[in-house]
Amino acid sequence: MHNNPYKLSFVLWLGNMNIKIIGSGTIGAYAGYLLAKEGHEVALYEDHEKIGIPCHCTGILTSSFLGMVKLREGILLNRLGKVKVVAPNNSFAILPCSDIVVDRIALDEYFTGLARDAGAKVLMGQKLASIDPAKKEAIIEGKGGRKALSYESLVSADGPNSKVFPLLNPKIKRQPWIGAQAVIRGKFDREMYEVYLNNDYCKGFFAWVVPESEESAIAGLAASERPSFHFERFMKKRFGDSFRKRISSYRGGLIPMHYPHAVCQKDGIFLVGDAGGHVKATTGGGIIPGMKAAKALVESLKTGKSYDKLLRKEIGNNLWLHLKIRKMLDRFSDEDYNRLIALMSRENPRRVIADSDREYPSAFAFKLLLAEPRLLGFVKHLF
Ligand SMILES: Cc1cc2nc3c(=O)[nH]c(=O)nc-3n(C[C@H](O)[C@H](O)[C@H](O)COP(=O)(O)OP(=O)(O)OC[C@H]3O[C@@H](n4cnc5c(N)ncnc54)[C@H](O)[C@@H]3O)c2cc1C
Repeated sequence: MHNNPYKLSFVLWLGNMNIKIIGSGTIGAYAGYLLAKEGHEVALYEDHEKIGIPCHCTGILTSSFLGMVKLREGILLNRLGKVKVVAPNNSFAILPCSDIVVDRIALDEYFTGLARDAGAKVLMGQKLASIDPAKKEAIIEGKGGRKALSYESLVSADGPNSKVFPLLNPKIKRQPWIGAQAVIRGKFDREMYEVYLNNDYCKGFFAWVVPESEESAIAGLAASERPSFHFERFMKKRFGDSFRKRISSYRGGLIPMHYPHAVCQKDGIFLVGDAGGHVKATTGGGIIPGMKAAKALVESLKTGKSYDKLLRKEIGNNLWLHLKIRKMLDRFSDEDYNRLIALMSRENPRRVIADSDREYPSAFAFKLLLAEPRLLGFVKHLF
């Protein structure tokens, strides 16, 4: 098998492709870096003039991120060892965690720099206007006017509002969450972030306060509608009526759902990151799954294996389970949240939470149910 000359020539032919990447956010830039490192001829087209700006992300990640990439100084802002989960009746549990907070703008700059160093071209102020998949041609608008670019592979890393997603998935109606948050000054316990589960603020989702340091935190929420109204209400309750005086900047954006039946590869086009819905529906976290999707894309181009199949293997099952849990939480009443938090503060679940990686919810959920069988009472909400 190893000596098969046809297989060898196929791999060599794939080895140097003309790849256009749309979007130099975290995942486009990371994919650009990995693909350029493999020897492909890569060009990244980014709509905005500055990498990472505007920033819409909180930057909280499970610490497994640190095992995926070697960071430079200045990106890791904080390490979190505790999370305070607050119930609608204001009872709370303080649970162990090992999460980190990164400077999202610095992270995007870093990945874009790695892509450049590996040989990728990065073109700023260049927006994808349309694609003609039959001609393998992308129309880009920006400085220098409108141009048609031909591609062998086109990687759509253009975020939650991807122009490319509907071409591959005309029947899927996207229904993203809307995130509204701000960087706020104050005094914070830098080791502990806060999560608020309360249908008054954000039915089904949650609100958060994530310290970047002792003096600054990112606070906000995600909602399916009226995000500004819910944001105002939450911020007043948490920080008082004059909270706006303490805000140094606002951040907001769309959080896509995971679409388990989405097609992410067709006719040389690949969807990666938020563009493909590679997001944990429980938390809205998309950086780690998006990076795993980028790795799957590299493997697909290297080996000729189906990208969609590799995605399913690498992240699909986990993201599907996150989506199931999200749908279950969507059905929770405030009373359910109160009971959940009371159960989670008990000794056995706390131990499981301390020892588990939330990136892998199947193992986590199984251990949790063994540790606290009364959690099974919530399973009825799955159906
Ligand atoms: C409020 C909020 C908080 C979040 N917090 C977290 C968190 O704490 N942890 C976490 O893991 N995830 C978080 N996320 C999700 C995370 O931000 C995304 O999963 C991540 O940004 C995905 O990266 P991406 O590169 O796929 O998309 P994006 O970061 O959206 O990047 C897409 C890029 O494509 C460019 N682009 C768009 N359209 C075009 C076009 N037509 N032509 C050219 N360029 C284009 C954009 O300018 C952008 O630079 C949060 C999201 C929101 C909204």
